[in-house]
Amino acid sequence: MIKLDAKIPAGPLAEKWDNYKASSRLVNPANKKKLEIIVVGTGLAGAGAASSLGELGYNVKVFCYQDTPRRAHSVAAQGGINAAKNYRNDGDSVYRLFYDMIKGGDYRAREADVYRIAQVSNDVIDHYTALGVPFARDYGGALTTRSFGGVQVSRTFYAKGATGQQCILGAYSSLSRQIAAGTVTMYSRREMLDLVVIDGRARGIIARNLVTGEIERHGAHAVVFATGGYGTVYYLSTLAVNSNASAAWIGYKNGAVFGNPSFIQIHPTSIPVLNEFQSKLTLMSESLRNDGRVWVPKKQGDTRHPNSIPEDERDYYLERRYPAFGNLVPRDVASRAAKERCDAGFGVGDTGLSVYLDFKDAINKQGEKAIEDKYGNLFEMYEKIAGTNPYKEPMRIYPAGHYTMGGLWVDYNMMTTIPGLFAIGEANFSVHGANRLGAASLMQCAGDGYFIIPYTITDYLSDQIKLPKFKTDLPEFEVKEAEVKAQIAKLMSINGKQAPATFHRRLGKIMWDHCGMFRNEKGLKEGLEQLEELEKEFWTDLRVTGSADELNQELEKAGRIIAFFKVGKLMILDALSRNESCGAHFREESQTDTGEAKRDDANYSYVSAWEYKGEDEMPVLYKEPLKFEYVEMKERSYK
Ligand SMILES: Cc1cc2nc3c(=O)[nH]c(=O)nc-3n(C[C@H](O)[C@H](O)[C@H](O)COP(=O)(O)OP(=O)(O)OC[C@H]3O[C@@H](n4cnc5c(N)ncnc54)[C@H](O)[C@@H]3O)c2cc1C
Repeated sequence: MIKLDAKIPAGPLAEKWDNYKASSRLVNPANKKKLEIIVVGTGLAGAGAASSLGELGYNVKVFCYQDTPRRAHSVAAQGGINAAKNYRNDGDSVYRLFYDMIKGGDYRAREADVYRIAQVSNDVIDHYTALGVPFARDYGGALTTRSFGGVQVSRTFYAKGATGQQCILGAYSSLSRQIAAGTVTMYSRREMLDLVVIDGRARGIIARNLVTGEIERHGAHAVVFATGGYGTVYYLSTLAVNSNASAAWIGYKNGAVFGNPSFIQIHPTSIPVLNEFQSKLTLMSESLRNDGRVWVPKKQGDTRHPNSIPEDERDYYLERRYPAFGNLVPRDVASRAAKERCDAGFGVGDTGLSVYLDFKDAINKQGEKAIEDKYGNLFEMYEKIAGTNPYKEPMRIYPAGHYTMGGLWVDYNMMTTIPGLFAIGEANFSVHGANRLGAASLMQCAGDGYFIIPYTITDYLSDQIKLPKFKTDLPEFEVKEAEVKAQIAKLMSINGKQAPATFHRRLGKIMWDHCGMFRNEKGLKEGLEQLEELEKEFWTDLRVTGSADELNQELEKAGRIIAFFKVGKLMILDALSRNESCGAHFREESQTDTGEAKRDDANYSYVSAWEYKGEDEMPVLYKEPLKFEYVEMKERSYK
């Protein structure tokens, strides 16, 4: 029986983090040198954590499966990063950012954690600027901002449409400094395949060297997962093809409870699916909705070229339905509205599964150059993929799987229910509730990595200073290594007919159709059955070519599919158990007369936290009640 304790510090909301920092335990510099920390992941969360912890003097080992840390998926982030600087004097504040996130997440996040991330957001911008991140500036040289969905202020700092790339170059430079200083050891092309738990505490990992196939053991006093999100459970998503659910599954099966697994964000503005052989979808950043207007023809099945459809025959349905926020409604709302129009027969393009995002008015008003300055690289990307010029005719967009609000459950210390195992960035469930606001992830990842984990992990390690380095010849390492090797051997020996990608594509379709943007009891149950059937087929008809003792991407993919099955099933169980709509989780049984999400606060105002009980056992659902002391729970309206 697990006792969930969020360990929220006492005191007024605005003082909790300061109180925590003032009273948390420290480790002196001489002792830090004796302590080892494993960080898995080198995105904005992992690179931030590793470089800060290295700078503090800990011995840090960092892992990523890419060939270089700077290819972590954070590199793909486009639109920007939020902070409550209020440079525009437009009414922003730490409280306003906190409030927007609580409301945007449909009142399914913890107040204390959200307030803290809003507080550290300003430090993140200062830190990245100091690291040389070239955020956009106004004529006078001050940092400038733009707006993102679900808010009425302009608080998003950006570097054209390549904010993630620029931030990760900053994060990578601080990481490289520590690597050169010898405080951080970098292990790239390594995939963590299991966690080693000794006497109930996380003490190491088992990793595969992806180039040689060698299985390695690595020990440490604490382990941090900064492993990103599992949105690729849908196969087609805006994430990098190699993003996966493995770390989430590894944590969960070893005893870390899984928070809100079904909360997964569908982004409204992806380039639509073009053919069945595609392996990924490409995002068109939410920032485009600052200037782009979303519309469909007023007439069903209208096949005219968009430029020849007159103004009065266009339905700017977001502006019509949500006059207060217009095109900048949050993602869940915009995605559902797009699907509703397409399902009703107003969609455009060959499949009818897309809507227009039109820059005509913005270009007429501001000029093409101004639009190019803001979004040039996104327009270029669109033209290369879709084959039409968005300066001359509207983009076509459609919703796609994008971001996981769910993740490993953590307390205020960012520690999972396995002592010594921490989860930061997209890998944890902490601050976005049932729907993430745009540009709030980079803020969270960097905040967790640079400004939160250094305090909380130090507090944890303060009573570990007498423990010597963990030897990897301990029986716990041997057992885990043997299990990993046995699983690899099993995958290699099935010798069936279907490639791993075939299973992933089929699995993703089941998840999208049954546990995607709209969910209902019947569909979820069918999805669960279909997943179970497909999982059986996987273990009898998988074919992995090549050998396990060399670079073998088929084997890597096959291993990741095991986790997609497990996490996919858990997503469905979670979605079934939450018979309300909230944020991105839309249960068709629970909607208002106008088709908006209908929360049920009396019965579902909690974080769901699932405990793994074994291969053929039902996981156990724990509920962490959510209390709102500083925000009044209201129906979420953007009208
Ligand atoms: C196309 C796109 C655009 C986006 N734009 C924005 C934006 O403008 N603003 C915003 O705030 N958010 C944006 N997001 C979301 C944001 O980019 C991500 O949520 C964030 O970058 C995640 O960072 P992270 O550090 O948690 O993990 P990631 O950057 O995903 O890094 C994960 C790391 O973990 C490693 N890893 C994972 N599993 C293993 C394993 N088993 N073994 C070894 N290593 C492992 C990987 O190698 C990698 O280094 C966007 C997302 C997408 C998909």
